[in-house]
Order: sequence, then structure tokens, then C-alpha cells
Amino acid sequence: MTQIPLPASALAENHEADAARDDGVREIAPDVAYRQLAIVNVVFYGQPNAGDGSWVLIDAGVFGSGPAIRHAAQARFGDTGRPACIVLTHGHFDHVGVLEALSGEWNVPVYAHPLEHPYLNGTRSYPPPDPNVGGGMLARLSPLFPTSPVDIGAHLRDLPPDHSVPFMPEFGWIHTPGHAPGHVSLWRERDRLLIAGDAIVTTAQESVYASLTQAPEMHGPPMYFTPDWTAARDSVRAIDALSPEIVISGHGAAMRGQEMKQALAELAQDFDSVAFPEDKRHGMPPS
Ligand SMILES: [Zn+2]
Ligand SMILES: [Zn+2]
Repeated sequence: MTQIPLPASALAENHEADAARDDGVREIAPDVAYRQLAIVNVVFYGQPNAGDGSWVLIDAGVFGSGPAIRHAAQARFGDTGRPACIVLTHGHFDHVGVLEALSGEWNVPVYAHPLEHPYLNGTRSYPPPDPNVGGGMLARLSPLFPTSPVDIGAHLRDLPPDHSVPFMPEFGWIHTPGHAPGHVSLWRERDRLLIAGDAIVTTAQESVYASLTQAPEMHGPPMYFTPDWTAARDSVRAIDALSPEIVISGHGAAMRGQEMKQALAELAQDFDSVAFPEDKRHGMPPS
């Protein structure tokens, strides 16, 4: 698979400052931070020490990540570490691992695109992952990934039709389907900050090694789990057209600056040859 490697200077975070902390939380704007949990990121929005009900959790990690999320939330925001709500980029298992537990324990609403609701209210399963694309250990293991829907019942809400994001006043949500039908990314114009979810990822998700080392790279969505590549391509191009300055993806380190922009432009331009699985290119509508 072709990849677009980036110099370390494209990383959005300050590693020296981070080395002083041990909670794994990386702050990339005064009110935006993320934590890498094994293979996936969760994002925290809100001012530090804002207290209960004054911040937002974006995505809910893999199974078993509850203690890490609770600990990071309490350390960053204080009080009992309870948010105003949870916002989902999409409902794949690695983004909803502790969603049922946390939404129940916190008793907070969970906002998702209406097209993701069937996967969040117990009515529909995602199509099975395709282990034959992308290569690498995670792709081969992907048939073992859970695809059955979680059920968060009464906590589930629609993202507002006016594209505002509840409790995140400067952000808007953008429909970025392809990787999942109701996949959304969150965008803030003021500092051109994009919470991309899995519409683009900044590590080679197909490879366990890259997931662990988190070498900065720019990729299309994880291959084994993306059913609609035409929509995925359109979503990458829509993201590139925004011209983001800072990108936090669902997987990999956050990135910023000129190298990131260049890599994103190349990914958008050459999506068919760079991101599209080879055996799926046949019959692809021309770009
Ligand atoms: Zn996903
Ligand atoms: Zn993911």
C-alpha cells in the first residue's frame, strides 16, 4: 500500500511538554485534547478544570478503556469527570467500546448522525470487515472485530439538522460518509481545527506496528472497514477543501501545518491510487 509519510514536524503536539505528564493526554488547543487508547483516540473538548457538565467527550474508545477515559476526564476537567454529552464520529466498535457503560453511568445524551442510529440502538450490524484489503495484522484480525450493534437506548440523540454541535458552540458537524454511512467530522473555523474521526487517519491502520509507533502518515480510512469508497473519496476531498490547519484523527497522532496540508491535498488528489484498495478499483467511477 502506498502511504504518504510526513516529517515529525507535522505532529501537532509538543512532545517535551507531554513528557512531563503521564496521563497520555495531548493538548492541541487550549480547549481541545485527545488521548490515545491502544489503537484509537478519544477527544476531550472544554476548558481545563471546567467541571462537571462543562465539557464533551468525542467517541468512546475500545472495550476496557473506561478507566483510562474516566481518569483523563477527571484529571483534566475536575469534579467527578462527568461531561455534558458524548458526540460520536461513528459507531464502529473501536469508537463505542465503553459507550453503554459511560452514557449510563454519566446519564448523558449521546449525539450521532441519524444514519448511525441503527448501529447504536441495537437494530442493525455493520457489514463484516473485509480482511482481504490493506494487508497487515489488523486487517487479518478484522473478522474477529465485533460488528454487532451496541444499544444505548434512551441516551441516543440526533445531531441537530442545522449542523451545530451540542455543547461545542464554535464547532459544526460535517457529514463525511464512506467509512460508515453516518460518519461525521467536527470542524471549527476559528483555528481551522478538524476532528476527522476515521474519514482520514494519520497512521497505517492496517498495520499493528504503525498503530503502536504512531509514525506520522496520512491515509484514507481504514481499508478493512470501509464499505463505500466513492463516498470515502468525496469525504476526503471535502475535508481537503476546508483547508484545515490542525487534524485530529480517530487513529494516529494529531497533525498540523504545511506538511500535513500537502499530504492531505495529495491524498485527496490521488485517492484512487493511494487509498483505494487495489482489488476494489475496478468499476470505480472516474474521479
Ligand atoms: Zn471506524
Ligand atoms: Zn476507528
